[in-house]
Amino acid sequence: MTQDELRIQKNERKVDMGQGGWYVEWPTPKGLIRQEVPRYGIHDRTMAYPQVAMALLTNRISINQPGQSVALGTALDVVGSVMNHSCNPNVCLFFEGKELRVRSLRTIEPGEEIMHCYTDVQCDVLLRQRRLEEDYFFVCSCQRCCQELETHRLRTSDDNDSLEEIRKKQDELFTLMNNVVVEASASLGSVDVGSQLTAARSLADAAFQEGQWPDDLEPMPSLLKTLGRIWQAQGQPLEGIKSSLRGSGNATYRLGPRWCDDLFELIQVFTRVVVLQTDSPAFEDMTFPRSAELWDLFHGYLHELCLLAESVYGLDTCYARAIRSWHDNTLEFAEDPLPGTPEFQRRFRASHAKLLTWAGVDSGRWIVDQG
Ligand SMILES: [Zn+2]
Repeated sequence: MTQDELRIQKNERKVDMGQGGWYVEWPTPKGLIRQEVPRYGIHDRTMAYPQVAMALLTNRISINQPGQSVALGTALDVVGSVMNHSCNPNVCLFFEGKELRVRSLRTIEPGEEIMHCYTDVQCDVLLRQRRLEEDYFFVCSCQRCCQELETHRLRTSDDNDSLEEIRKKQDELFTLMNNVVVEASASLGSVDVGSQLTAARSLADAAFQEGQWPDDLEPMPSLLKTLGRIWQAQGQPLEGIKSSLRGSGNATYRLGPRWCDDLFELIQVFTRVVVLQTDSPAFEDMTFPRSAELWDLFHGYLHELCLLAESVYGLDTCYARAIRSWHDNTLEFAEDPLPGTPEFQRRFRASHAKLLTWAGVDSGRWIVDQG
């Protein structure tokens, strides 16, 4: 279609909204494209052509700052928009103040394409593919997507109905998770976290006729982390840390900013556990780490987060410096051996394995490596 043909068609479809401006709706086999142009403002000029509107939509970059889970808005950047998508990206994008930064997540070989993930990298393949198709108009068939789809097929009866069933349950679990968050923000005490978890599990398990929803299949890890935070806020640190560990321990993607956020949130929940008094009933359970071991875990997790933040975002970022300062302050009165030494590393790993076993997480699944 030429520009002139497009203009004619648009004029025919245009619906006038009076003082509000006008809109055009364009049905396509994959859904409706709606262009709404307010009467006043710059939109009149920049968004008047679907090609321009689509170019803006598909090239926008979320303004995410380190440690902030909510985007401040969207931006356009000529260099940033050039990069293609990968579900297994080799760089991450973030804003340090007003500056867009691109940092490598691993070694990039000469000639290797630089790619970042357009969507939430921790989501399951079914949700990633749907979001990419809806927001960016392409179907991702990268290696990670293929592998995850293959895993789904092995877990189910290898037909499209089963995949659709999982997709439906994922939507329902997200709705449940969002409802719990909304309810908790309105009235924290009114949320019965245990019942919500039971409801979520039975809802999810129904997708697998003869089995259970796998612990590592999203959004179950995200749900467990969310419930962990609510439990902690309700003053139930043990339930909180158990749920958070099950969520973080079963997250399948542990790289870059998302893993940094996970570790940060886990430490937040852990701050209530580490201060448990020695006469707390928690210590009657001999499988639960002792007080000194909890402090080793706290210092070890924070040390891990510190190294991760510096590697992901760079030493000069506000976030990495804030984590370093928190880390140094907590170590001010700590006794030897200190994190980073081989002796501490041995103690930390033993305590970590003990904590994971207590929480019902396979200790082999989650390797925290002290650098
Ligand atoms: Zn992919």
